[in-house]
This record gives sequence, C-alpha cells and structure tokens, in this order.
Amino acid sequence: MADLNFEIKSKDIAARIGKLKINNREIETPTLMPVYNPNKPLITIEELKKEFGVKVIMTNAYIILKNEKLRDEITDKGIHKYLDFDGIVATDSGSYQMMVYGAVTTTNEEILKFQEKIGSDIASFLDIPSLPDAYKPRAEEQLEITLARAEEAKKLNLNLIINAGIQGARYIDLRKRAAEEIGKNFKLVAVGGIVKLMEDYRFSDLINVIAAVKESIPKNRAVHAFGLGHPMVFGIAAALGCDLFDSAAYALYAQNGRYITPSGTKHLHELSYLPCSCPVCLNYKINELDEKLLAKHNLYACFEELRRVKQAIVEDNLWELIQMRARSHPALISGIEKMVEHGEWLSKIDSITKTSAFFYAGFESDYRSEVVNAKKRLQRVCSENLIEIHPFGEVPAEICDIYPFNCVLVPERLENEEGAMGQGSGIRDIHKIKKIMDYQFGSGAGDLVADNVRIVRSRKTRRIRWIYDAKNRRELIASVRARDHLIIPKMNLAGKLHEKFEYPKLRVVIDDEALPFVTEGKSVFCKFVKEIDTDLRCSDEVLVVDENDNLIRVGTLHLSPEEIMDFDRGMAVRVR
Ligand SMILES: [Zn+2]
Repeated sequence: MADLNFEIKSKDIAARIGKLKINNREIETPTLMPVYNPNKPLITIEELKKEFGVKVIMTNAYIILKNEKLRDEITDKGIHKYLDFDGIVATDSGSYQMMVYGAVTTTNEEILKFQEKIGSDIASFLDIPSLPDAYKPRAEEQLEITLARAEEAKKLNLNLIINAGIQGARYIDLRKRAAEEIGKNFKLVAVGGIVKLMEDYRFSDLINVIAAVKESIPKNRAVHAFGLGHPMVFGIAAALGCDLFDSAAYALYAQNGRYITPSGTKHLHELSYLPCSCPVCLNYKINELDEKLLAKHNLYACFEELRRVKQAIVEDNLWELIQMRARSHPALISGIEKMVEHGEWLSKIDSITKTSAFFYAGFESDYRSEVVNAKKRLQRVCSENLIEIHPFGEVPAEICDIYPFNCVLVPERLENEEGAMGQGSGIRDIHKIKKIMDYQFGSGAGDLVADNVRIVRSRKTRRIRWIYDAKNRRELIASVRARDHLIIPKMNLAGKLHEKFEYPKLRVVIDDEALPFVTEGKSVFCKFVKEIDTDLRCSDEVLVVDENDNLIRVGTLHLSPEEIMDFDRGMAVRVR
C-alpha cells in the first residue's frame, strides 16, 4: 500500500525542513512541484531533472483522462515510465478545470481510480474550489460536497496517497471546520482555493486562511499550499508551516511575458537589465527571452528563493527574511501584520533560543514569536535592577546576557541610552545564575543553586562557563552555554529541579519501551513520548522521566511539545 512518512529535521517559527518519504521516494521539504502539462510541455522532463534537479512534479490526471491517446499510452506504461521520471509524481483531479469551466465530465470515484491505475504517488480527489469571495452559503454548500468526496476517497481505500483539499473560501470558520475533518483522516493536506488571493495580492486573507488550517490540523500533516507558485510568498507561507508548493505560474507567467523575482513580477518590457544570475539571465539578452527561456528563468527564481528560505530556517533567521520580503509591497506588510496576530500560536511552535541575533526589522518585530515567549518568561523573574530593552520591555539586569536580550539589534532611536550589555557587569555572578534559572525553569529555580557554588569563567571570553557544587567543589552541576548564556543542568541539579517542580513541569515522560536506550544516553524519539509539559518550548532543557516519574536523563527539546505529541517519527529530545 502507498505509504507516507514525514519527519522534521530542522525548524524556525512554524517552518520546517522535513524529510518526506512517499512510496520509498524521498524529498526534502519545503519544496516546489513544477506543474507539467503533457499537452503543452514548455520545459521537458529531461530539463526539469537535469537543469533543476526536480524530484517531485505535478501533472493533471483529468487532462490525461480526457485525451484518448495520452490516456491509453499512460494507462499502458504507467505515469513514471511514460514521463521517464523516477521521482514523486503528484496528479491533480480536474478541480481547477471545474473552477475555470464550471463543470467536468468525470466523477470523484472515476478520477481517483484512474490516478491509482496510472500509478500516481500523490493523488487528489475532486474537491470543489470556492473563489475567495464566494457568497458564504454557496461556499458552505461547496464545502459539504468536498467533505463528502473526501469521505468517499477515504472509503475507496485505494493504493494512493491522497492530497486532501481543504476549502472554505476566505471564511475562517469554514476553513477550520474543513481542516479539522480532513486533518483527522489524511496525512497530506492541501490548502486549496488560494491562488486568487496570491494573484490579487490579498496577503492578509491568505495568511489568515493558511493559519486557520494549520491551527486546526495535527502538526505531523504535510501541508501543500495549492497553486502558491510565486517566490514572494514562499517565506511567509513556509513560516506558517507549509511544506509543498506547486507552480504552474512559472509557465503561465512566461506566456504573458512576465518575469518573476522574489520580490514581485515585472513585465519583460519594463526591464532594461536582468536582475538575476540564473543560466538564462547570464547567457541571454532581454530581447532573446522567448516563452521557454522566460519559463526557465521563472523556475530558477522559484528554486533560488526556496533555497534561501531553507538556509534561513537552519540559520534561525526566517523572521528577518520574511520581514525583508514584506518591504517589497504594502500588501505583504499587511500579510506580516496578520502573521504577528498569530503570535500566540506561533510562539508555542517556535524555539526558545536561536543561533542568530534578533534583528529589529520593522514595527512587527515587537510582536514576533520570540518576544511573546520572552515576555511570558520574564514574569518568572523578580528583580530590582531593571533595564529597558526594546522590544521586550523591562528586563532584569541579571539576565540581560542571555538570548534574546543579549543579541537584539535595534535602530539607534530604540536603543537604551546606557546600552544593555554593560549593565550586568556590576552584578555578582551568583545572582545572575539564580535569575537565569528562574527565567529558564520557573520562579524559585534559582534557590536550588547555593550561594557558595564555585563559578568558573572561560579564560578566553571571561564569561561564566561552569558551575561546581558548593560542597563537592569538583562536581560540575551545570554549564553555561557560550552562545546564548542559558544554563545546561547536569544530573545533580536536574534532580533538584525534579524535586522542586511537580509533575509534569519541565518533564518529558517516556514509554518504558524506550527506557533501556534513553538510560544509555540515546535520543528520545517522538513515538516514545507519552506526555510533556506544554509550557516547554523547542530548545528548552528538559527532564526526561519514566512513567513513574523517576528522573532518567536531561536533554534538549528538539521540537515543540505539540509537534512531539503529533509526530511519530523523528527526534524529540537530544539526551545529554
Ligand atoms: Zn534569471
């Protein structure tokens, strides 16, 4: 039977670099599925493979079904052999044609069985895309049909991975309902009916729709932003947790002489220079760009932006990238305003510490997920030495060395006059350590560190690096990480945290089955986690306990609690 596995390798905000395996064909997400029209192949499969390294494509089963010659040949050979493509082949069902022409001459069952017959890896059922501004009762009616067809698709139990369309126009309640129902039954879901929002630059509606869907489905669902093929939205859509994009846009735009860039679209006649270094733009002059060359450039522009988004995810600076992109059009600024309205939800998925500095890149920086998380944790810390650090507000001077307070880069006018960095210098190390403990683990955690512990500074940086036990002065109880100045407790201190904070605080509870491995120091995998403290955040230091709350090890959370509970693959805790 068709099989889909998905796991997260790396993440930032709600974006993830994922390993998606379908029928033993593996791809890395986020990625783009170029749409291949067998009636009008502008770029050949050979070129898609060789020049673009494409490992997943999308084509249209309805077009094939309705073309007798194609249908017979592909039914006979199978879609992979016909295309000479060994990667993942996704097929669309004719929903798009239905939207454009009003009707199609097939049924849900027929088109699904046909996709199975030709050997599609990813198939679509015949969902009904509503236009964003459809009259609500009409959109509701269409959604009922879509949901009934999803149910039918499930019952047919075909040898296919179904890319299940979530509809509901721009109506958030409809989208949520559809997402809840579809999300229960399908591992791969598609946010449908959003192309018009992209084309009309209605980015705040677009963000609201995607966020509504993402909030309503389990976190382990791979999410396809159906038809979202313009690179200017890849970053923001990925940041909300979209994994797959498809592009017919590269060819459709080329048909109309439109040149795609990550910050917008230009007509060829508007260009005096080609602002791109892809093989097409380097080797041809503007007046030499025909439809095919333009389509190739458009596709290069898409893949380049996707690589940039992925690099930003591993560098933890996706916020900065999407904030920068937002500056290319006021409609994108509205989009990012919407995005920060979802800060509470995003803050639960995002990491508590990051490897790159917090760049203030505009007013919306004030509401980023890191700020939501930091402000919540600041409530745990009492101090009389407060420093104003924008955008976090008053921060105890004792903890201004830790992430994110230690690496905020704000414009001059927002800077604290005395500067935050020098402030902590007069404070005794032990006071710093106690307040950092409170911030990280909860009020009162600092009391667990005795006043007379032995604190050792790094010879190189002169910063606090190691904390040794007060009595046994050679026993390391914690280290302080150089990068973010957060405390990494050893078992001794972890035991005290375990005693002080009641179950399930700070804990990741693991299945007995995983005990022997974790005891040895192996990582905890998602499927062995039975329970987790939901106040924890990705990258937090956590206590790994067994089902009877015995402390086993300490480690670092690799994903957010919600992701850990939803995923059954991938690492949950990197054990120390
Ligand atoms: Zn180019």
